Amino acid sequence: MKRLVLVGGGHAHLSVLRALAQKKTPGVEVTLVTPSTHQNYSGMLPGWMAGHYVQAQCRIDLLSLAQTARVHMAVDRIAGIDADQHCVRLPDGRRLEYDLLSLDIGSEIDLSWLEMAGNKLLPVKPLDDFFVAWPKILACAREQPGYRLVVVGGGAAGVELALAARYAFSRANIQGRVELVVSESGLLAGHAAGVQGRIKHFLARAGVFVHRQRAVGVEEGVMLSDGTLLPADCVIAATGARAPLLLKFSKLMLDENGYIAVNGFHRSLSHPNVFAAGDVCARQDVAMVRSGVHAVRAGPVLAANLLATLMGTPLVTYQPRQRSLYLLACGPQYGVASWGGFSAEGKWIWRWKDRIDRRFIQRFSAP
Ligand SMILES: Cc1cc2nc3c(=O)[nH]c(=O)nc-3n(C[C@H](O)[C@H](O)[C@H](O)COP(=O)(O)OP(=O)(O)OC[C@H]3O[C@@H](n4cnc5c(N)ncnc54)[C@H](O)[C@@H]3O)c2cc1C
Repeated sequence: MKRLVLVGGGHAHLSVLRALAQKKTPGVEVTLVTPSTHQNYSGMLPGWMAGHYVQAQCRIDLLSLAQTARVHMAVDRIAGIDADQHCVRLPDGRRLEYDLLSLDIGSEIDLSWLEMAGNKLLPVKPLDDFFVAWPKILACAREQPGYRLVVVGGGAAGVELALAARYAFSRANIQGRVELVVSESGLLAGHAAGVQGRIKHFLARAGVFVHRQRAVGVEEGVMLSDGTLLPADCVIAATGARAPLLLKFSKLMLDENGYIAVNGFHRSLSHPNVFAAGDVCARQDVAMVRSGVHAVRAGPVLAANLLATLMGTPLVTYQPRQRSLYLLACGPQYGVASWGGFSAEGKWIWRWKDRIDRRFIQRFSAP
């Protein structure tokens, strides 16, 4: 019996589970280790905050996918990896040994600048915790006129969360203030000027105050680099990604930022019986940004390569496209599209995003 262990129920592993459901793998015992029986979908989180979806529409039932694929599910979070000993460690000290390991555990939110905000701080990840916390924030804001919410992060997630929060406040007649801190690298760095301009305009129209400075967490909220204090009742952190800390001691080869170094097959450069896809890895042959788009697209390649490794057949390469399409939700059912130098906005962008997101969930739902 060969043991394949999948860690994390992220975007790429959804395709692996689907491939395992479609193809019988005699002589292979597969285990999925993931902290929850459901995977919440980040793409629909802003729409859920804004009130366009209920949570059940934004999540994938991992347990049912695993059962269909004849995969044993361990509802747990791994605490460590020892790639030399071919095992992962669970928090209670148990070891799970593998012949082949696949990692899709995503990235963590870098909170190093904001930690001092203490219990006011709400990182957007883990998404499971965020889904529990947001309704409580709305309830608090309803009770407390003048509620102050600060979102930190100038990337797509920060922008979408700030606009979704602003819209949710307006819908619930909450007299609150929403501010977005985007640091010195600015709003939507890496996107075209047209996209940045449209979003800037939309934030102003929606009444979201934008600060282009670095924020440091303080007891009262956040302090900007020019010394301005932004008092806050809640600070949502959608700051940059950082590699999961547990990788440090994994003995896997990591890149300079601590992510798993992989080749075009998404195979570890140091341990050929370890594969990784999604935010947790760093391709060493091509530049690839961390995004759900690549995590999803690499999924079928990861699935093919895990099966090929088990059967001793040739591996295939994941070829990332030069440009990815981003459809940003703007609070109401309105969106901004970003694709290389091209940008567009309108209700039709929201409808397009909504169709893509619903189809994604549908693809991984039980028949
Ligand atoms: C609000 C928001 C909106 C976004 N919108 C978009 C978008 O529109 N388009 C886009 O391309 N990207 C978007 N992103 C980025 C996107 O969410 C990530 O790039 C994507 O989720 C990465 O997928 P992944 O499979 O690597 O990891 P994830 O989707 O984060 O999945 C990781 C999985 O691993 C599990 N896990 C974590 N640690 C452990 C552990 N120790 N043991 C076991 N399991 C573990 C987690 O519970 C989770 O199930 C958005 C992000 C946010 C926060």
